[in-house]
Amino acid sequence: MDGKSEMATDNMQCCFCGEEIARISPDPVRLQVAGEEGETQELYCHLAHLKHAMHPSVPLYIWTTE
Ligand SMILES: [Zn+2]
Repeated sequence: MDGKSEMATDNMQCCFCGEEIARISPDPVRLQVAGEEGETQELYCHLAHLKHAMHPSVPLYIWTTE
């Protein structure tokens, strides 16, 4: 880590709606995607928009009390 990831958390944009995410629990949700070569990218989103994008048959094991 080189400190850039810390700066990036100051202004988080939802990867689904494009809006800035207010830090109100459970938001922001952090998604980490990994490429074949081991490269990763972190994405942020609103929990509500993640749930909306996911198929209902796919379980979420965290935030089960929403
Ligand atoms: Zn959103």
